[in-house]
Amino acid sequence: MRNGKKQIGIIVPAYNESQNIQEFCRAVLAVIEDLSRFDWKIIFVDDGSQDNTWEVVCDQTRFDPRLSGIRLSRNFGKEVALTAGAMAIQEADALIFIDADLQHPPELIPKLLAEWEKGFQVVITKRLAIRYSLVRKIGSALFHFLINRFSEVKLEPGTTDFRLLDRKVLNVLRTFRERTRFFRGLIDWMGFRRSCVTFSAPDRTGGNSSFNLRRLVSMAIHSFTSFSLLPLQLTGILGILTLAFTSLLLSYMVMAHYILGYTMFTALAYFVVFNTLLFGVVLAGLGLVAHYIGQIHVEVIDRPLYIIQDQIGIEHTERLNADLRIPSTY
Ligand code: UDP
Ligand code: MG
Repeated sequence: MRNGKKQIGIIVPAYNESQNIQEFCRAVLAVIEDLSRFDWKIIFVDDGSQDNTWEVVCDQTRFDPRLSGIRLSRNFGKEVALTAGAMAIQEADALIFIDADLQHPPELIPKLLAEWEKGFQVVITKRLAIRYSLVRKIGSALFHFLINRFSEVKLEPGTTDFRLLDRKVLNVLRTFRERTRFFRGLIDWMGFRRSCVTFSAPDRTGGNSSFNLRRLVSMAIHSFTSFSLLPLQLTGILGILTLAFTSLLLSYMVMAHYILGYTMFTALAYFVVFNTLLFGVVLAGLGLVAHYIGQIHVEVIDRPLYIIQDQIGIEHTERLNADLRIPSTY
């Protein structure tokens, strides 16, 4: 709260967006013109752009004191850029995260705020239709299916990083220490009172999307492994299945030979089955090791065990949350 007004921050990650910044500023400033009941702060996070994004940002800040920027020393990726922005404005009552390429319509900002004023602490946005390539569409559908089926966090397809987060949510988010982070996943994992606003995404106005297939796949793998131990557990399951199957087979072969007197199994057959059994033992052992690694993984990412949303008769909830650095379980 400043001059009796609530402060709203807008975080804009920008990577090679020099062509879009000016237009973006014009659009956002026009929208917030009618929202003077809030105190505004817009911060660009130049994520190590190779073009003159930073110079354009600096130019813009000269015209309007509400505009500001930080520049990362190299390209750290959008997820990190968003976090850097959230760390840069600590005093805001709410933050809005929005892309610089105008694919997240600034005209939606009043709607996000209206939801926030109704008491929602996380206002997410959902994109109705978007012209992505077929590969990206299929990839996205597969990713959402896997993550919703096999991990604790539920992600809705079509939801974007264009979000409003209340101060309380931000204070918890700032305590997260994990290095490979998936911003949307973390927010969905946190819970809180949530609301959703829909919009249809326009095409990019200038520049190119910096998310190529390799980058998207790598992000999908990161997000999957940070919310699910399934890939590790599968190894062990495969080992146990192999072990069970080969022990049965071997017992049958031995019984058939000694009790029923069958002589159809050659030494090589015994060798192959025995060898596969040993393979099963190794895989099952790996699964066990994977389980320990999983435990370490959970400890190391150090997510809070739970998050307190409200309290009565107790102060310092935010500190309570921050101090609760007990590992979460999956
Ligand atoms: N971005 C970023 N760092 C990166 C890649 C992208 O800060 O390494 C920013 C980019 O400038 C844009 C937003 O993240 O504001 C979304 O990127 P993009 O439009 O390339 O992704 P898409 O809309 O295709 O998902
Ligand atoms: Mg975009």
